[in-house]
Amino acid sequence: MARYDHILDTIGNTPLVRLGRLAPESVNVYVKVESFNPMGSVKDRMARAIIEDAEASGALKPGQTVIEATSGNTGIGLAMVCAQKGYPLVVTMAENFSIERRKMLRFLGAKVVLTPASEKGSGMLRKAEELAEKHGYFLCRQFDNPANAQVHYETTVPEIIRDMDGDPIYAFVTGFGTGGTLNGVSRGMREHSPDTRIIAAEPDNAPVLASGIAQPRDEEGQPAGSHPNFKPHLMQGWAPDFISSLTEEASRSGGIDEIRGVPGDAAMETSRRLAREEGIFVGTSSGATLYAALEVARSAPEGSNIVCMLPDTGERYLSTPLFADIGEEMDEAEMALSRSTEGIRFDQNGGPAPVAAPQKVTLDEDARQFVADTVQCEPVVMFALEWCEFCWSARKLFAEMGVDYTSVDLDSVMYQEGERGNKIRAVLAEQTGSPTIPQIYVGGQHIGGCTELFDFQRDGGFGAELDRLGITSRPFDRDPYSLLPNWLHSRSS
Ligand code: PMP
Repeated sequence: MARYDHILDTIGNTPLVRLGRLAPESVNVYVKVESFNPMGSVKDRMARAIIEDAEASGALKPGQTVIEATSGNTGIGLAMVCAQKGYPLVVTMAENFSIERRKMLRFLGAKVVLTPASEKGSGMLRKAEELAEKHGYFLCRQFDNPANAQVHYETTVPEIIRDMDGDPIYAFVTGFGTGGTLNGVSRGMREHSPDTRIIAAEPDNAPVLASGIAQPRDEEGQPAGSHPNFKPHLMQGWAPDFISSLTEEASRSGGIDEIRGVPGDAAMETSRRLAREEGIFVGTSSGATLYAALEVARSAPEGSNIVCMLPDTGERYLSTPLFADIGEEMDEAEMALSRSTEGIRFDQNGGPAPVAAPQKVTLDEDARQFVADTVQCEPVVMFALEWCEFCWSARKLFAEMGVDYTSVDLDSVMYQEGERGNKIRAVLAEQTGSPTIPQIYVGGQHIGGCTELFDFQRDGGFGAELDRLGITSRPFDRDPYSLLPNWLHSRSS
């Protein structure tokens, strides 16, 4: 580790780690763990390369908006690069990719334009092209951009060669999405390690490359619709519904020695085994690639070294089938453990921690006046605590309905001096007969806490009262209790 001028200099130089348990004893399987990149995936390499290539060629002007169609990792890498360099970014993404990817992109300042799942990978590409043309954005074209392959030729290969330190590499195994990794690494390996077998893995239910059937293309060479062998599959980031030009080039130039199909359930199982037996936490396509690598290992000569790409982190898959069997609640074994000591037991000590009652403070005239003035003058008032999850839930309802409200945060710095917050709480407890927070007032009337507000909303009373007060609001048609955090929801019902 060193000192860096900026985050982009931390891209690459990912570790090559030998598997201790999953590989057959006679073979060394080394995994290249790309989750060590700053945004957790192999695509950080490409994101920087494409942007810097476009800067150098003049295709990307200072301040120009960047756009790309991406299943997530490319977008997340681009969002980091664009944030660091100061370019606005728009990402088009099919709606069926995991929610955490969308949220990460938006957190990094990008705009995400969803496309219908029915339009598949080529639909999001078309949308990015339309938007680029209409608004004059720089389109990255990761599926065709030579910079995407070149970065693997220039960084991934030299890293592997350096880290293998002269030991022969029997096989290199990778999947392909854009084909950038496959194209660049196979080209580099042919030069630096010509005996290495290049193995490309794809979903077994969508043998697009293995079929040998050419990708239909239009007169500009762009994919004209889906490949006839494409089927939706579980490996996000792998195998779009067309053969990209980078993949096709790798294949045509003899850069692939073997193609292996991987079943979706085997990919997920291998990813889980990597986590539990090797402590390596990666996504579905990594499990898929390793599954293919382990198959190769089984028939490899004794003492062979196999290098396998692991493209990204498992954290990107919490809402996908990879985590379908991972529960939120305690299972029977965990419950039994919980019951096995007496002190703290989940089945006995339940519910949210009680909010500590304010220290005894004498009722204070100023505080009383403040409460009276605030509930009289402000149409919607919430006496709240900054950290309180019931308060957050009430805030979510206000936000979703577009209701402006006054929040008196009794634990904020503003109310700490002279114990003002506690004095106000004492007045509220006296007036409402309840020591809990929040306490909510609408039109001068006391409504109650969070659940009373939710009940009021559910009965239609809240909307009617807002109308009466001339406050505009949006309808809210869901169950407001769904706004409570899950742990409060399940414990309070
Ligand atoms: N796995 C994941 C999770 C990915 O996001 C990608 C990139 N789309 C790949 C594998 C394939 O990498 P490449 O685009 O270089 O073929």
